[in-house]
Amino acid sequence: MKIAEKIYLLSGMSYGLLGNVYGIVHRDGLLLVDCGRPHEAIPMIERNLRVWGLEKLPVTALLVTHGHPDHCGNGFYFQQQGATVVAGQKDADQILRLGDYDPVIFPCVLHDFEEDCLFEPYEVDIKVESDIHLSICEYDIEVLTTPGHTQGSVVYIITIKNKKYFFTGDTLSAEGSRAHVPVLGTAASVDYCAQSYISSMQKLLNRYPDAILGGHGIPRLVSSNAFVAQACMKAMKERS
Ligand SMILES: [Zn+2]
Ligand SMILES: [Zn+2]
Repeated sequence: MKIAEKIYLLSGMSYGLLGNVYGIVHRDGLLLVDCGRPHEAIPMIERNLRVWGLEKLPVTALLVTHGHPDHCGNGFYFQQQGATVVAGQKDADQILRLGDYDPVIFPCVLHDFEEDCLFEPYEVDIKVESDIHLSICEYDIEVLTTPGHTQGSVVYIITIKNKKYFFTGDTLSAEGSRAHVPVLGTAASVDYCAQSYISSMQKLLNRYPDAILGGHGIPRLVSSNAFVAQACMKAMKERS
């Protein structure tokens, strides 16, 4: 699905799979935000790249929002193909390097821990410890550390033609049937931290996103500052 100029939805809820995968075309190829659940997302991503005539573009970078298998599960595959992998430092060290989302160490109430949640481990190339800007081809990408859903969760902000697209992973999504309802990334992991989560949501306030492209649900393609504020309130209410 083409979302906006240069931005495509390549896998996820709209295709009956878990974990949205976004592709962004740049001058020298393609960058991906997240890569879906192990194995099942790859044929879907490749199918959709063919639909849009993008299959010959090299995937030069993979931006992982966090270390849950439905978002990071195929990183090894894309890294083998030459992609530079970016992820938050804590998830990079605690989850991606293991490749085994161990249900004892990292139980996760939202995902079933069948064998299909195990994935090939990989060493992240750029581990993000604090807020940074990355330069990938013609794009300046702001990476915000947003711990809470997992300790190493990050949000990527990419500006294209003066529009700010927020790739929020599971930190914040728009509900599938009611896009005005924020879906929060609370209580999904053993390493979930309510205090950090609220601070991270506050960090997203007043940044005036033109779109929220979450890890689940539907892409929300309208100006979304009030939506973030609503999510923030909801998170604080949940906590009290
Ligand atoms: Zn998650
Ligand atoms: Zn998820």
